[in-house]
Amino acid sequence: MISVEQALDKVLSYVDVLGEEPSPILGCLGQVLAEDVYSSINVPPLDNAAMDGYALRSKDTHRASQQSPRFLRVIDTVTAGSISSYEVEPGTAIRIMTGAPIPNGADSVVRFEDTDEAQRKGSSNEIGVLCEVGTGLNIRRAGEDITTGSIVLRKGVVIRPSEVGVLASLGRSMVMVIRRPVVAILATGDELVDINQPLPPGKIYNSNTYSVAALVLRYGGIPRILGIALDSESSLVAGLHHGLEADMLITTGGVSVGDYDVVKDVLVKQGEIAFWTVRMKPGKPLAFGAIKGVSREGVARNIPHLGLPGNPVSSMITFELFARPAILKMMGKKNLAKPAIDAVIENPIVNRDGRRIFARAIVEKRGGQYFARLTGPQGSGILTSMTLANGLVIVPEDKAQVAAGDVVQVMMLDEVV
Ligand code: AMP
Ligand code: MG
Repeated sequence: MISVEQALDKVLSYVDVLGEEPSPILGCLGQVLAEDVYSSINVPPLDNAAMDGYALRSKDTHRASQQSPRFLRVIDTVTAGSISSYEVEPGTAIRIMTGAPIPNGADSVVRFEDTDEAQRKGSSNEIGVLCEVGTGLNIRRAGEDITTGSIVLRKGVVIRPSEVGVLASLGRSMVMVIRRPVVAILATGDELVDINQPLPPGKIYNSNTYSVAALVLRYGGIPRILGIALDSESSLVAGLHHGLEADMLITTGGVSVGDYDVVKDVLVKQGEIAFWTVRMKPGKPLAFGAIKGVSREGVARNIPHLGLPGNPVSSMITFELFARPAILKMMGKKNLAKPAIDAVIENPIVNRDGRRIFARAIVEKRGGQYFARLTGPQGSGILTSMTLANGLVIVPEDKAQVAAGDVVQVMMLDEVV
C-alpha cells in the first residue's frame, strides 16, 4: 500500500497543464491567465477631478481664508464624461464634478466645502474660495492607475473579481486563459438508480455522480456525466466510451475487494494501472491509472483515470485529496494544497491499522484558537456527515491514537464557522 503523498505524486505525474483558449472576462473567474496583459491606454485617460468643486488656478487663491475669501468668476460647469470648451484664465473658475476632466488652465480643484457655495442661493456666476489651494490638489492624474504600454496583469495569475475589473477598465472583453479540464464521471453499481426515477426495492439513488460533479464544478472543471454502469466489464467499457475525449475520467465504486474489481480489470486491459490501494481511511480502495483514449484532435493518448471508492464519503474525500490537485494542475495553478490549520481536538480518535485517518470535523474558532470536534459516526456511508463538516482532522499513520485536547492538523474543506 502506498502513502497519500506517493499516490498524489503518481496522480500528478499523469496530468499536464492544458492548452489556452480565449474567454469572455466574466467566463474565466478562477482560471489562470495565459497572456501578459498590456495597456494601450492611460487609466484614467485624462487628469480629472477627485472631488465635486471648482477647477481653478492655485495662484488665484493666494491668502484666501474664511475671513477674506478670494472671489472668482464662474465661466462654465463640467460633469463627468464631458470636456469644457472654456479655459480657466486668471480670476475665473469652472464648476466641476468628480471624474470630469480638468479644464485647460486649471491646476487644482477646491472642493465645495471650502467655498461659499452653500451660502449662495441658486446659480451664481461668482464663487468665494475660503482657503489657499495647493497646486494639484484634488486632481487624479492621467495614467495614475495604469500607464499606456505598461504590463498590467502577468501570465500565470488567477483571475479574481479584481482582475476582471482591471481587464474591463482596459476595455477588454476577451482574454487568453488556460482552459478548464473536462472531467467525465461514471458511477458503477448494479444497485444504482438515477435521481428522478422511482426507487425499486434493493436499489439506492446514485449520489456520487452528483457530489463528484459538484466538486468538479467547484474547483473549476467541467463535469461530463456519463451515467451509471453495471458491475460488469462490458458495461463499464461501454460507459467509459463517451468519456474518452475528456481530460480525466472518474469512476466511483467497483474498486473494493469482492466487488468484482471491475475497475481494476478494465484499467489493466484498456490501459495501465498505477496503484489500487492507498494507506488512508476512508478511501483505501482507490485505483488510479490511465485508459487509452483520443485527444480532441483525434490523436491517441492516455487519459488519467481515478477509480474512486463507491462509499459516498470516501469518494468525496479521495476526490479532495487526489482529483482536486489534478484539476488545479491542469488549470495551470501552482498552489494545489487545501489550507491546513492546527486545532485542538475535542474527541479522542483511535487509529487501529496504521492508515492515515481523515476524520470529518466541525472546526470553530474560540478565543483566537481553533477547536475541532467530530461530526459524529464516521462510517463512510454517512454522507450527511459531510454536510456538517468543514474540515478533515488528520491522524498520521504512525499515531495509534490522539487524545482529547491534543493539537492536530486539520485540512480545511470550507471556511471556519
Ligand atoms: P463499492 O465501492 O462499489 O463496493 O461501493 C461501496 C458502497 O458505496 C456500497 O454500499 C454502494 O452501494 C455505495 N455506492 C456505490 N456507488 C454509489 C453511488 N454512485 N451513489 C451512492 N452510493 C454508492
Ligand atoms: Mg459497487
